[in-house]
Amino acid sequence: MNRRVYLDHNASTQVHPEVVAAMLPYFGERFGNPSSVHAFGQEAREGLEIAREQISHFLGVGKDEVIFTSGGTESDNLAVKGVAWARGTGHIITSEIEHHAVLRTCQFLEGQGFAVTYLPVDGEGLVDPDDVRRAIRPDTILITIMHANSEVGTVQPVEAIGPIARERGIPFHVDGVQTFGKIPIDLDRFRIDLLSFSSHKIYGPKGVAGLYVRKGTKMVAVQHGGEHERRRRAGTENVPAIVGFGKAVEIRAREMGAEALRLTALRNKLWAGIGARVPEVRLNGHPTRRLPGTLNMCFRNVESESIVLGLDLKGVGVSAGSACTSGNVEPSYVLVAMGVPLDWAMGSVRATLGRENTEEDIDYVLEVLPPLVERIRSLSPTAVS
Ligand SMILES: *Cc1c(COP(=O)(O)O)cnc(C)c1O
Repeated sequence: MNRRVYLDHNASTQVHPEVVAAMLPYFGERFGNPSSVHAFGQEAREGLEIAREQISHFLGVGKDEVIFTSGGTESDNLAVKGVAWARGTGHIITSEIEHHAVLRTCQFLEGQGFAVTYLPVDGEGLVDPDDVRRAIRPDTILITIMHANSEVGTVQPVEAIGPIARERGIPFHVDGVQTFGKIPIDLDRFRIDLLSFSSHKIYGPKGVAGLYVRKGTKMVAVQHGGEHERRRRAGTENVPAIVGFGKAVEIRAREMGAEALRLTALRNKLWAGIGARVPEVRLNGHPTRRLPGTLNMCFRNVESESIVLGLDLKGVGVSAGSACTSGNVEPSYVLVAMGVPLDWAMGSVRATLGRENTEEDIDYVLEVLPPLVERIRSLSPTAVS
């Protein structure tokens, strides 16, 4: 049987065994509704509050500044709509390479009469803080820029953008889903007012996430109902998942420093090996300001899908940058925004490493990938001669 190598950690991760163990009692005897006053409810409430403590401690914030949601997508929606609707009208600044949870929320708000500026990025995927400064208008009500892009891993200069927002009194939201628990986030130094972060990208369960909202930030609820989460997010809390999320964060607190170094070394080894064995390949994203485990590259005149499917047959899971929409293959909007030429962008492949990956995994990929690319190129009708 083939070796199985998972290299798609920016898409999702395997739940840590300690996280599974922490969750189990909350599917069993600790099943109560945390809003109930009886002991059954209070036992569930206890799990919820332990998780809130683990997460607020990790972020260095107050427990009442953390809201649990159903995912990074909901956190982004709540932050952007919640701040926009609290003001009713105005202008929002974001970037062209945000996650769809922010981009499509901004587009939706444009349909409601809000104005939105989508800032460009440079060839390495960076937003220029001076562009942010220049885009600010008297009616700007929100700046939302992601911390790291999930496709290419470029880490934005949020430490330079935050102070610009703060100086003008504009709330600053950061989609930190790809950086939370992977690299340090200093909410005070970066002047972040709202931060989205999610569980399943850091070895916790899916369908649970958080939104940090700095005390004093004006934000309305998007979902109405009971008194949960201080009336900022109604709905009975997903207690087992939240407990698992808290445990996952506690584990990241002790593992993330060493893990970032280890993954950076493995990723660099993979890239060096590919560069030495495969012609016409380029790195996407910033060479150094990049998520530790993220390697996004383009193979010229190759379709991403062929590599993804070919590697899948060898037991290796990576993702394609291009997206197949209604039969047409389209290049990634992130690579297009970065100005990557089409003949390169169509052949983008993303390998994202995580805690269970080893040197042997990298050696295996370096064994199977080069002959695969060579074979695809030899069959490809688009190959340049
Ligand atoms: C995964 C991801 C999201 C969405 O989070 P979910 O929990 O999957 O809804 C948002 N933003 C970024 C940058 C992501 O990588």
